[in-house]
Amino acid sequence: MPDNRSLQELRDKYLSPSFSLSYDRPLHIVSGKGQYLYDSKGHEYLDAVNNIQHVGHCHPKVIEAANEQLNRLNTNTRYLDETITDYARALTDKLPAGLNRCFFTNSGSESNDLALRIARHHSNSKETIVLGGAYHGHLTSLIEVSPYKHDGPGGQGPPEYVHVVPMPDPFRGLYRGPNSGPMYAGEVKNIIERLRSEDKRVSAFMVESVMGCGGQLVPPKGFLSESFDVIRKANGLCIADEIQIGFGRMGEHFWGFETQEVTPDIVTLGKSIGNGHPLSVVVTNDEISDEFNNGMEYFNSFGGNPVSCAVGHAVLNVIEEEGLQQNALEVGNELRSLLMELGSDHDIIGDVRGIGLFVGIEMIKDMDTLEPHPQAAKQIVDEMMHRGILLGSDGPDHNVIKIKPPMVFDRSNALLLVETLDKVLSNNKNWKK
Ligand code: PMP
Repeated sequence: MPDNRSLQELRDKYLSPSFSLSYDRPLHIVSGKGQYLYDSKGHEYLDAVNNIQHVGHCHPKVIEAANEQLNRLNTNTRYLDETITDYARALTDKLPAGLNRCFFTNSGSESNDLALRIARHHSNSKETIVLGGAYHGHLTSLIEVSPYKHDGPGGQGPPEYVHVVPMPDPFRGLYRGPNSGPMYAGEVKNIIERLRSEDKRVSAFMVESVMGCGGQLVPPKGFLSESFDVIRKANGLCIADEIQIGFGRMGEHFWGFETQEVTPDIVTLGKSIGNGHPLSVVVTNDEISDEFNNGMEYFNSFGGNPVSCAVGHAVLNVIEEEGLQQNALEVGNELRSLLMELGSDHDIIGDVRGIGLFVGIEMIKDMDTLEPHPQAAKQIVDEMMHRGILLGSDGPDHNVIKIKPPMVFDRSNALLLVETLDKVLSNNKNWKK
């Protein structure tokens, strides 16, 4: 087994420096099982952050489905194939009626790019509305609609056809408190009115119903439903990016948009859909997909190949068979309530939020000013790793600790996480400035 230093040297030599490694001491992870990862020295880590391995690392049923299909056949969507159509049916059965036509892709970014293209075709316009702090992918078209990237280091801001709504953050945003939803929706209305006055029309409102990179942010009640109404009155399409939050993670609902009581026109799925296998999907209704079928074929060499579809189907089955949505509800609720208790003992915890197994802890320097504390968030994430628990930090100010484990994360894992965090917070009162 190569040691960490020689691996680091090879990485420095052969990989683009644009890639980054997690933690102050990079980990050499060599295997995984369920909610646990193992390094080259045999140390076990409780994985509380890798939401892509949704049903657990190396789930045997997912591996078996992939192996079986790989051994039998791998082609593409240009042949009749029951593995593909059975999966499309099973997947759309989980979505609201009407969302029943699939386009297969290979990454969340590809799905979001295609969703934008569909909406631009529908509206004959490029005017796109997104949320401050949002991330929708790494393609050129998506950096343009991702303030998380274009407003960050190396970014060049949005192009003129991208309009950014202030991040609907009821804790520390432009409008605060649980009743701030309509005020943020008013910002969407203002953009629509400005577009109208300039003789332009909206193409799409692309949104994560609960924001991931934006800092595990649950928007205030009413924001999304009022915004969707405004967009639809202006004949725009509402695109729900479910890439981080879908497939039962919310516990109370299978999809993130359901927690905000809205139904989108287009849904984009990725990450957890294939438990780490590169599978993603765009789903829309008959009318929009028929309209997009303007003579230009949609072909994707890998998107919708039967191996990916077999994997996706196995993931859906495992969620069902193992009751993982219910687990997300129960363990997520308990985890959040324990974290809230912890917050009352530690002033550095400004806010605990989330739904199901999608949780954020916002670290602040001062209870009055709510000044963010990114240094503490980083230090805590590193110290938790030293103690065998993997977390991450995110948000526009990098001060939100994110918890989004494989969905097999159980009660004892939640208790251990909170106990360990308590120790880390109690041992260190001198956070780096
Ligand atoms: N949308 C959201 C909400 C995401 O979190 C991500 C990935 N972090 C993407 C889109 C892009 O997905 P991918 O990395 O598979 O291209």
